[in-house]
Amino acid sequence: DIAYVNGAYIPIDEARVSILDRGFLFADGVYEVAAVIGGRLIDNDSHLSRLERSLRELRIENPVPMTGIAEIEAELIAKNGLSEGLVYLQITRGAAAEREFGFPAEAAPTFVAFAQKKNIIASPAAETGVKALTVPDLRWARRDIKSTALLAQVLAKQAALEGGCQEAWMVDQDGFVTEGSSSTAFILTREDVLVTRLNSSAVLPGCTRRAVQVIAEREGLTVEERSFSVAEAYEAKEAFLTSASNLVLPVVSLDGRPIGSGAPGDTSRLLRKRYIEWATNAASA
Ligand code: PLP
Repeated sequence: DIAYVNGAYIPIDEARVSILDRGFLFADGVYEVAAVIGGRLIDNDSHLSRLERSLRELRIENPVPMTGIAEIEAELIAKNGLSEGLVYLQITRGAAAEREFGFPAEAAPTFVAFAQKKNIIASPAAETGVKALTVPDLRWARRDIKSTALLAQVLAKQAALEGGCQEAWMVDQDGFVTEGSSSTAFILTREDVLVTRLNSSAVLPGCTRRAVQVIAEREGLTVEERSFSVAEAYEAKEAFLTSASNLVLPVVSLDGRPIGSGAPGDTSRLLRKRYIEWATNAASA
């Protein structure tokens, strides 16, 4: 497998950054993940504009112009012969001689990227749905930035796995679901209204969320952007999560309680199907 490190394409086992890199020392960096289907990136403009925003918010200088990033991604897909999977990008503030918290005057940002093979469309989890577990949201107050500081999500996901679940739904201090550890959370109410939290500094603005919202409205569904409580989620007709790597994935139980029939719901399945149609058409356009 071939990775990209600061301008060079190298075998991933040989790809290295400094132990003084601020990404390693302080999680002072941002990342993006986009899906690849049929050798093409899905919704990549959306991911690149979010990356640009994350960098701007943290005042990390972008070492590569945006068009250059798309070229690096295309190179990785080609060099790795990737048909279906993910492309991962990470930019940190770079390495400085001294371990000082303040921004270093001289550090050049570090840019790394790699590709990973993964079945995106043919997913067994999409057939069965996944179980989710609620956990307290322990993250910082700028969750709209896709930073590599992911410890709270690591602990959340591990709690879910140890609880026999595949995803954690994180819950704020008022009892409202913020989002999944690595996905956006949606519920469908018994009145067939799709609900997902309003974008704010409390959540990451999901690229897949945005596309699914448009698709759902085209299908005649009402989408409400508002907070929903854990209690409301327990009573939902359906639930699903969205992310670049899982597209639309039905959530069939929460904290051991079946949601709706306890099987993937019709609306969740339809939205997954329509998203894949949209993604593959847009990708080949
Ligand atoms: N929320 C969080 C915390 C995430 O980490 C992710 C993706 O990794 C998402 C939401 C979904 O975002 P996207 O649809 O852009 O992948």
